[in-house]
Amino acid sequence: MAKKWVYLFTEGNANMRELLGGKGANLAEMSNIGLPVPQGFTITTEACTQYYEDGRKINDEIMAQAMEGVRTMEEINGKKFGDLNNPLLVSVRSGARASMPGMMDTILNLGLNDEVVAAMIAGNPDPKFERFVYDSYRRFIQMFSDVVMEVGKKYFEQLIDKMKAEKGVQYDIELDASDLKKLAEQFKAEYKKQLGKDFPSDPVEQLKLAIEAVFRSWDNPRANVYRRDNDIPYSWGTAVNVMPMVFGNLNDESGTGVAFTRDPATGEKKLMGEFLKNAQGEDVVAGVRTPMPIAQMEQEFPEAYEQFINVCNILENHYHDMQDMEFTVENRKLYMLQCRNGKRTAQAALKIACDLVDEGHKTEAEAVAMIDPRNLDTLLHPQFDPGILKRSVPVGKGLGASPGAACGKIVFSADDAETWHARGEKVVLVRLETSPEDITGMKASQGILTVRGGMTSHAAVVARGMGTCCVSGCGDIQMDEAAKKFTLGGVEFHEGDYISIDGTTGNIYDRRIPTVDATIAGEFGRVMAWADKFRTMKVRTNADTPADAKKARELGAEGIGLCRTEHMFFEEDRIAAFREMICADNKEDREAALDKILPYQQNDFEKLYEALEGCPVTIRFLDPPLHEFVPTEEEDIKRLSIAQDKTMEEIRQIIASLHEFNPMMGHRGCRLSVTFPEIAKMQTKAVIRAAINVKKKHPDWNIEPEIMIPLIGDVKELKYVKQFVVDTADAEIEAAGSDMKYQVGTMIEIPRAALTADQIATEADFFCFGTNDLTQMTYGFSRDDAGKFLNDYYNAKIFENDPFAKLDQSGVGKLMEFSISLGKPVNPKLHFGICGEHGGDPSSVEFCNKIGLDYVSCSPFRVPIARLAAAQAAIAQAKEQG
Ligand code: PEP
Ligand code: MG
Repeated sequence: MAKKWVYLFTEGNANMRELLGGKGANLAEMSNIGLPVPQGFTITTEACTQYYEDGRKINDEIMAQAMEGVRTMEEINGKKFGDLNNPLLVSVRSGARASMPGMMDTILNLGLNDEVVAAMIAGNPDPKFERFVYDSYRRFIQMFSDVVMEVGKKYFEQLIDKMKAEKGVQYDIELDASDLKKLAEQFKAEYKKQLGKDFPSDPVEQLKLAIEAVFRSWDNPRANVYRRDNDIPYSWGTAVNVMPMVFGNLNDESGTGVAFTRDPATGEKKLMGEFLKNAQGEDVVAGVRTPMPIAQMEQEFPEAYEQFINVCNILENHYHDMQDMEFTVENRKLYMLQCRNGKRTAQAALKIACDLVDEGHKTEAEAVAMIDPRNLDTLLHPQFDPGILKRSVPVGKGLGASPGAACGKIVFSADDAETWHARGEKVVLVRLETSPEDITGMKASQGILTVRGGMTSHAAVVARGMGTCCVSGCGDIQMDEAAKKFTLGGVEFHEGDYISIDGTTGNIYDRRIPTVDATIAGEFGRVMAWADKFRTMKVRTNADTPADAKKARELGAEGIGLCRTEHMFFEEDRIAAFREMICADNKEDREAALDKILPYQQNDFEKLYEALEGCPVTIRFLDPPLHEFVPTEEEDIKRLSIAQDKTMEEIRQIIASLHEFNPMMGHRGCRLSVTFPEIAKMQTKAVIRAAINVKKKHPDWNIEPEIMIPLIGDVKELKYVKQFVVDTADAEIEAAGSDMKYQVGTMIEIPRAALTADQIATEADFFCFGTNDLTQMTYGFSRDDAGKFLNDYYNAKIFENDPFAKLDQSGVGKLMEFSISLGKPVNPKLHFGICGEHGGDPSSVEFCNKIGLDYVSCSPFRVPIARLAAAQAAIAQAKEQG
């Protein structure tokens, strides 16, 4: 039997989202549970994949099944495509497995042409109906031209603006039937002018082109960026939903709305949403007019409102999660057009998860599993300094559309936001409204402020998804985009002026308000406590300073997985001694310089041990090439020449001698200790002395130093360096009369180390995967320069993600798995961790859990993300194992 590419809504269900996409699966599910859904069909995500496999062509079999779907849809609805008595008009909408709001294409009112329009009007003498028909027609021509034929929508907007100016009106709604008729004609003429052919009048041809456009939109630049940011694989494809139109723009007895069963910004259990009378869905999202709050619908459309409240309850009880719904009222009758688990802020996600547990909808494990770990990041984002905030008076207020605080210089276009950001400026993007092509500029901004649009406008939805602060719908702003200025509350703001916006309250301030970090408390703490109950993998942190270590502890770190000791050498009071060490001519002079550094380093380590209160601390010995430490400024070179009793020329020669063609593959890591064992010896003394001192103060703490040797490629390197470390440590311990235990382990960050892990395991107490270098050396990409060409790799579909941010599981990951399988049988006590950047990336954390790491280590602010991701991995694993 031929493959099934097309499913009627009555043939699907909620579990088929991989095949039908989220929208298709939920439309099917709503149909199954008896909710009022206009009956249409879904073309599967597999058809999209096939479209790309076939060289961006819809093959005959898929099209034939789609046409069969049209025939059945015509029968079910008693209307026909192109029929002059009873024409069928449809919407054609994208819908991937994971929701990608606003990223792909939608075409509404498809099926209209001159004859259908004339026949519809002839069949209904009401002048309001005539207006509606022309309104739908002009919308369709514009949308089809823009989305399907890629004629820029600006040409059409210019024509609308011209018409409004001629008529002296502000809103589209004030244009009458004859204006809209004229607009439709002008639009068709514009289409012909732009494309050199007539607007297609055959509804079947319109449909074919629209389906193709939706498939094509899977690969548009904004969808590609969104997928990369949200870990959505390109291979998934989008489904296409073809559905009979219901008309919110039919008359004043009609309208369209978007609503959430709980507040997507705060999580509060109350219906939240917006409704726009006499309008179509896109008007709400595009922020063309500011809609009314959903509660007001109760007065104007009481029966539809009551029915809608009932639907909300049914859907929440069915999906056991907060729902985001699109609906239309046509002649006072309610139709459901979409439902999905609503996107929400991190704050709302935590509150909703806790409430759903308390209300008996979810178990604790289910609650933990439903929170996107990447989202937590936003909670740890800065808030305004409360003291200064108290003394600041807002100049205006919009809707608090995406929480957090933002402060920056005003820019008026997404392009400017990108350019200013690239040169290191913090910017707030101020726009009349945003549109999907603004996404990169929005990402580059600290915050977004819009004049139009509500909580569900494009700006609000996208900003919430990105965790960027957003204030939307500040209608008091008098905007002059052309002159790059606006006024609000009597203040004139220009490009480059400072502005501060509060995405929670919606307040806008005409000044710079400093921000402060947030902390874990309340629902955040409750969810994290559940996460800790389920996870089996530990979470440590990468921290080099007591302040970072303290912050990480507050955020739940259970140890330090990587202390990069070199960062300590850069501080003002020790860089001079370190440079003396580099410039020394012989071992004695080097040791003399190192002796100056020893007390500083020991003091640093003591503070770290204090901050960690007995949790494990892994100290990694000096790693970077020495040229990173030498002076570049004339003044500093002079100072060093005096201290070293050398000429400036001699110093310059030493500096030049450190030059390497490939410094990242050069004289660094354990190679430095091979050449200068005295460095490793000094660091060992500092670690052991610090540990002994702190242990004396806190006898109940378990202090067992973990010394980590970087960049090992051969077991003989490790053996050689370890000998100095062990001899020094043992002598220190003996001299102190202590019985302290310590470990010496290594980073696995060179492919050869992974390939010979069985040999290395004989000398190591632990392996910690340095996946930054391991990725660099496995791919042969410079970790510092790859960013310059990765975009070309994304565009060419070679990569979907940056391998330095998201672990390459099939290559680098395989080396990790291999190391464990080689190392463990040789040394069963060996423990395993990761301290590359990937230790804080959720999908990489899941992989680390799968291959059996004991811990991940990440930067302090990613600790909660890693805790949650580790819990989710454990929950999923337990589920898989039954
Ligand atoms: C690594 O290479 O992954 C690592 C953690 O070390 P660094 O980033 O300091 O090279
Ligand atoms: Mg490294």
